[in-house]
Amino acid sequence: MTIAQNLQTIRKAITETAVGCGRDPSTIKLVAVSKRHSIASIQEAMDAKQYLFGENYIQEAQEKWQSVKGVYFHCIGHVQSNKAKTAAELFSMIETVDRYKLAKALNKHLEKLGRSLDILVQVNIGRDPDKSGIDPLKTGEILRQIRELPHILPQGLMTIPPYTTNSEETRTYFRDLHQLSCDLAQQGLFADNENVELSMGMSHDFKVAIEEGATIIRVGTAIFGQRPDRN
Ligand SMILES: *Cc1c(COP(=O)(O)O)cnc(C)c1O
Repeated sequence: MTIAQNLQTIRKAITETAVGCGRDPSTIKLVAVSKRHSIASIQEAMDAKQYLFGENYIQEAQEKWQSVKGVYFHCIGHVQSNKAKTAAELFSMIETVDRYKLAKALNKHLEKLGRSLDILVQVNIGRDPDKSGIDPLKTGEILRQIRELPHILPQGLMTIPPYTTNSEETRTYFRDLHQLSCDLAQQGLFADNENVELSMGMSHDFKVAIEEGATIIRVGTAIFGQRPDRN
């Protein structure tokens, strides 16, 4: 299967799943996760009209950003605070803000750049010790702190649920994140409380995520195939 064919299959699945649960398919954004895949793969996806990509590693994203124009990158990996400057320059959205220190560092650089940046707060919805993200109970607190940072626009929440092959178990995590976002929106803690972004769902579980309200899905393997090993 080519990248173009895979994209077509996924777009069809997004539409069918959305329509099946009474949602408008155009409210769901597909982030093509290109980490560890080549620039040629990104260009192949662009030829099939995919212009939004997800990258995990700052240096890799920087190299790609310099050679591929006309696309947007979301940061979906852990960001060290000392990489905040580069991250603020490169990404159209940082989905993985999980501590105030990082938000503050980003804000400082954005002030110099004279612009603002969309971010998501990464929540460890399953309280999985192996996963990053903030404890669900502390999400309100960090959003209140972020509200004081004029260049950071918190658009919603992102999560990576604990790994399980049971899609119904995954569903409860997605449902919990959705509920949390509704509670926080009610408190007025997002940049736009009528349109809160929920980034959840990957290759194996994006349909369930859409059924539970995802507005951003992050799909790598199902588009680009197996990732090459990191060397
Ligand atoms: C790698 C990665 C993905 C993509 O996972 P696939 O299973 O390849 O679709 C999605 N989200 C995050 C945070 C990732 O690191």
